[in-house]
Amino acid sequence: MFKFLIVLFLMVASLLGSTMSENNWQRGETLLTFLESNALPLSIYYNLDREEQELASEIVAGVKYQVLKSDEGKIEQVLIPIGEELQLHIIDEGEGYKLTTTPIAYQDIDDVLTVETTLSPYQDIISTTNNSLLAHEFIQAFKNSVNFKLLRKGDRVVVFYKKRIRLGKQFGSPKIEASMVELRGRKNYVFRYNDGRYYDESGKEVEGFFLARPVNFTRISSSFTYKRWHPVLHRYRAHLGIDYAAPTGTPIKAAGNGKVSHVGTKGGYGKTIIINHQDGYKTLYAHMNGYRGGIRSGKWVKKGDVIGYVGNTGISTGPHLHFGLYKSNKAINPASVVKVTKSKLKGKQKEEFIAHTNAFKQKMDTALADLKLPKKESSFEYIVSLDNQTENIIKQ
Ligand SMILES: [Zn+2]
Repeated sequence: MFKFLIVLFLMVASLLGSTMSENNWQRGETLLTFLESNALPLSIYYNLDREEQELASEIVAGVKYQVLKSDEGKIEQVLIPIGEELQLHIIDEGEGYKLTTTPIAYQDIDDVLTVETTLSPYQDIISTTNNSLLAHEFIQAFKNSVNFKLLRKGDRVVVFYKKRIRLGKQFGSPKIEASMVELRGRKNYVFRYNDGRYYDESGKEVEGFFLARPVNFTRISSSFTYKRWHPVLHRYRAHLGIDYAAPTGTPIKAAGNGKVSHVGTKGGYGKTIIINHQDGYKTLYAHMNGYRGGIRSGKWVKKGDVIGYVGNTGISTGPHLHFGLYKSNKAINPASVVKVTKSKLKGKQKEEFIAHTNAFKQKMDTALADLKLPKKESSFEYIVSLDNQTENIIKQ
């Protein structure tokens, strides 16, 4: 369906002599300021329901969006990606503009990289593929189980990964399926298993992030959903977090240790705090009544520290905390992480895992035998910024 829209989008462009331009979403820009500065009716925003207005607050600064204009300079269509799955589509229907949420059409492509290290695996992955997002994922996958300082020139690296292509360009972060890095000839592996987490070859989880519950809540007023087709409303819905209803003024606690990266209003989210954690995780706390004194960007906080108070700011129908969790800038369900501790696969699950890894190890041996390089990436559709931790690791 959406492929059709994209084709239509481009076809309209060529038939009517319309022009398409591509811009980067500015830091601090919101859907409302975008409409204002492009002289589009603000009702486009105000006619959205609460869930959609929250979703519009998820637009990431730096993301590329497309605008289609008529010869007279009138905006006909706008496409703005929200995360990696959905996009906002504004379209002039003649009698006025309409905004809908549609899935992003993309293709998943499997690729494999084998390389002999010369400088560092990070540098070598970039110089052979141009793909800094892949290098970033690689470091994230291994940093808790491998000491990269022990690496010697000539040690080999294999990476099996999936990347997403949208309009001919890599879109978002590639996902590593399995990878091996040699340390002085000894092979170290990570495998992504069917729960989306990384394990070593013995089935022990190599990354661990434990969240504490951020607030004492009375009930969950809205849970996490991703790209859900609403049969009555006939559109896609998403709620990229959990809403915890609680009285105004209830303390909000940091869900984990980390560094505060944002304190301030954020579109429909109202007063919002964002904290960067280890392993590329981020947490977001929205609709706050106020911040705790001394909380500012750049400050380190510990799990359980009070950072602010429940409120009703932004687009909100009653006091609640909207709590979001992101891994490499992709929204994930906080409920899937809150309960999980670092785990070790056992029994039948482990047997299946070993069969899965053995198949990959064979593929790795084949790949190592002919040192295959993927095509160099030339452009990216959606660049996520590297977090400070990764930059610190690669500087070592
Ligand atoms: Zn919410």
